[in-house]
Amino acid sequence: MTINYDLHSHSTASDGSFSPSELIRHAVQQKVSFLALTDHDNTSGLTEASNAAIGYDLNLIPGIEISVTWNKQTVHVLGLCIDPSNEVLQSGLANLMEYRDWRATEIAKRLDKAGITGAYEGANKYRRGRIFSRTHFARFLVDSGHAKSIRDVFKHYLVSNKPGYVPGKWATLEECLSWINLAGGIAVIAHPARYGFTATRLRKLLSEFKDLGGSAIEVVSGSHSKDDVRYMSELATQYEFYSSCGSDFHSTDNQYINLGKIPALPDKCQAIWEHPNWHI
Ligand code: AMP
Ligand code: MN
Ligand code: MN
Ligand code: MN
Repeated sequence: MTINYDLHSHSTASDGSFSPSELIRHAVQQKVSFLALTDHDNTSGLTEASNAAIGYDLNLIPGIEISVTWNKQTVHVLGLCIDPSNEVLQSGLANLMEYRDWRATEIAKRLDKAGITGAYEGANKYRRGRIFSRTHFARFLVDSGHAKSIRDVFKHYLVSNKPGYVPGKWATLEECLSWINLAGGIAVIAHPARYGFTATRLRKLLSEFKDLGGSAIEVVSGSHSKDDVRYMSELATQYEFYSSCGSDFHSTDNQYINLGKIPALPDKCQAIWEHPNWHI
């Protein structure tokens, strides 16, 4: 039987719908053997998740998904097998959290100017952890009738040139890689096909990432098509990156694909679990 790896998932510690314990139970049901919990910009769900995994045939990989601003665009970098107690990592994340708090008030102000009142309090009702995410605003906008679906929100609000947009001011790629590497982790470019970059721009990102100490890309993602997977596996081979795979699971009712239901990595890929820093 093949081993089921799902190395990208979210809990209520960021913008997922399941608490860390619920996520673990769901992963067990979905027959996942290796699960990475990779909440946005914080690691506060990891303790509950690792306690919940005790006694199950499930290996929890401590992870994170760090928001990065690269050439004025937002890019996500996963850190897998990190030591969450690393102080440099945590002090970097504290700054991102502060920015998120400021951004939430700013998003609400901008929505207010567009005639949507009460967005801060409205979005805050959906928040169950430390992090304030655009997803919480998206849920508010759907439930208050301003948009038909979460997908619809990210077309008409909260994105460039639309009401509620605030340009990101996240970590630099260099900072992010130094935090992950100092915390003993493996840095992975998350869902590289999702940024809509041209081939030239994507190659520039991959080269800089490699030069700064990055060593893997997410070849299989819940948001990648078959063609994306093929293309990313070719890039992984060319740049000698390890390949990762993850659903980017947030909830059972929207987005991409269920936990543990992603396709296998293409044969030619060097799997991330062969990386020297991989440990459980
Ligand atoms: P933030 O990090 O707070 O800016 O929020 C980004 C999050 O919004 C991502 O991690 C996704 O979970 C969610 N998101 C972004 N674009 C979309 C989309 N088109 N459909 C659904 N969710 C999205
Ligand atoms: Mn998210
Ligand atoms: Mn992401
Ligand atoms: Mn994610």
